[in-house]
Amino acid sequence: MTHTATTAGLDPATLTDLLRVAGSPGFDRLTEQLRRTGGCSQPIHLTGATKTIDRATGTLLHHYSTDTEPGGRLRIACGNRRATRCPACAWTYAGDTYHLIRAGLTGDPDKGTPTTIRDHPRVFATLTAPSFGPVHNRPGNRTCRCGIRHPEDAPELGTPLDPETYDYAGAVLWNNHASDLWRYFTIYLRREIAKRAGLTQKAAREQSKVSFGKVAEYQKRGAVHFHAVIRFDGPEGPDTPPPAWATLDLLDDAIRAAAARVEVAVPAVPEAGV
Ligand SMILES: [Zn+2]
Ligand SMILES: [Zn+2]
Repeated sequence: MTHTATTAGLDPATLTDLLRVAGSPGFDRLTEQLRRTGGCSQPIHLTGATKTIDRATGTLLHHYSTDTEPGGRLRIACGNRRATRCPACAWTYAGDTYHLIRAGLTGDPDKGTPTTIRDHPRVFATLTAPSFGPVHNRPGNRTCRCGIRHPEDAPELGTPLDPETYDYAGAVLWNNHASDLWRYFTIYLRREIAKRAGLTQKAAREQSKVSFGKVAEYQKRGAVHFHAVIRFDGPEGPDTPPPAWATLDLLDDAIRAAAARVEVAVPAVPEAGV
């Protein structure tokens, strides 16, 4: 006779545990928590209580404590964007990203972007970190530089070919300053646009708003990169048409020029040898 647990691919101890949890009084609430966390594989466990009190009357309006939750804990999704850390959260994030980008490109009246923006010049740009040294990869159908044809889920993908020479400090600094890099990019972009339009920055801004829809993601090598929809809108935003000078060519050219100029100076730390 085949043991039930073995048939299900579980060892008897796990099956016993599973039945114990399924039979416990808080099971319905537990499944609700699991559903609300989107199947997160590493949820954050919270314990504590909150009270909402009416300031004028001192009446207790709402009270919540994790004491009544299964195991005395509330689970919330980890929100990690890396599939290797949490497939469920990374998948949710990818879906959110898709909708954000799509709304920026084709419009989404539910999100306050009219579909007329389809006629606005817009660019879907990816801003990527420079090389910090070669990493294991899958270049098309060819083999990696290490001579191996790595399978899609190989753990070594994105790791340095030569850890001795890889610029780890550069990679860390890049991620650390990614938000500043992005901020400078947007400042330079407005400058480059005004310059190409032959206008002052103020005049350019008054005639056309530049809209950004940006998401940060991790590449396999662990570096942050940005996907962005950059769009010319009219003076009042997405509901108004952009002026004639705001062309796709001008935008494309200005994006390339701005991206090439961005730099963040980081003070050296001699003790750390960086
Ligand atoms: Zn998660
Ligand atoms: Zn390799």
